[in-house]
Amino acid sequence: MESLKVVCPHCQAINRVENEVAKEVVLCSSCQKSLLDTTPIECDYESFHAHISENDIPVLVDFYSPDCAPCMKMAPDYEKAASTFALEVRFIKINTLDYPEIARQYGVNALPTIVAFKNGREMNRFSSALSKDHLSMWSESLIQMTL
Ligand SMILES: [Zn+2]
Repeated sequence: MESLKVVCPHCQAINRVENEVAKEVVLCSSCQKSLLDTTPIECDYESFHAHISENDIPVLVDFYSPDCAPCMKMAPDYEKAASTFALEVRFIKINTLDYPEIARQYGVNALPTIVAFKNGREMNRFSSALSKDHLSMWSESLIQMTL
């Protein structure tokens, strides 16, 4: 049976999840919290790198700033879109005021910018606030996309 590497949203432990697993309960082997938690994760350097490089599932990164109005307006849509992709797409966030080096490293110079990664590689990006539907369609396309 095929298994996927999924980084725990709570402790960044790498878990192997069977593809066919029933989705009601999937707990982290390290911290025992749910791997199905879809709340977008506020990342620091360490968790950002763990998520983009260790996940077999696609990862969306919202580069935002708390003082950017379009960013704040998009936040609930980002959360809603994330809620329908448990174990399929991981949604994370980088506060660019706290981590400007990460934004610089990825050439982010407009906010919000949302960047999609798969197996550590950037697939595509948008530099504008996106609706829930747009984020959902993008997520579906990332799941289908092969490297
Ligand atoms: Zn964990």
